[in-house]
Amino acid sequence: MNIILFGPPGAGKGTQAVRLQKNHKIRQLSTGDMLRGEVSSQSFLGKRIEDILDSGELVPDGIIVELIESRLQDSDCQKGFILDGFPRTVPQAEALDEMLVKWNRHIDHVIVLEVDENILIERIKSRADESGAARSDDNEDVLRHRLEVYHNQTAPILPYYESKGLLRRVDGMKPIDAVTEQIEATLAAKAAA
Ligand code: ADP
Repeated sequence: MNIILFGPPGAGKGTQAVRLQKNHKIRQLSTGDMLRGEVSSQSFLGKRIEDILDSGELVPDGIIVELIESRLQDSDCQKGFILDGFPRTVPQAEALDEMLVKWNRHIDHVIVLEVDENILIERIKSRADESGAARSDDNEDVLRHRLEVYHNQTAPILPYYESKGLLRRVDGMKPIDAVTEQIEATLAAKAAA
């Protein structure tokens, strides 16, 4: 089973993706985590992208597509995967399609976590306070910019998946367990259809 999780920054994709990984024994791939890993390892790529991450802009499509393409071919992704943070632009969605066609694989579910953005900003602010801003892009200005980027570059992908009949919307404002339940119900309903 292959899943894409969508939602604005702070919507809780990571939390839900970890749960899906555990419940379904499929691999979570968070592009944000992968990129932050590059930055903390001080790799050549990490040094190149550090400022981009801090600004809330997106790293160039070519970089992220290459990372994902190589990761999806690893053995731990063969039973299924959950994409958390990818695709984030129309060219990334097109590149994903091309690789899936090449490998004779497909996406089974596209789930969008819908949230109220004002509440979201409060959530992220408290995440930053609690963790002492463990993430350098977790401050209000950068978050507002990440939200803008989401609307301008990522949300335009949704109609594409909607036209393929894959898109399912879930209320991301519910408590974490209730969101998980909605996601599981969505997966089960589709499996039974
Ligand atoms: P969030 O969803 O909370 O904004 P992520 O951890 O998914 O956070 O991403 C953090 C940052 O990593 C983004 O703001 C962006 O700079 C970069 N990033 C993550 N995924 C992608 C992607 N698919 N394409 C380009 N940049 C990405």
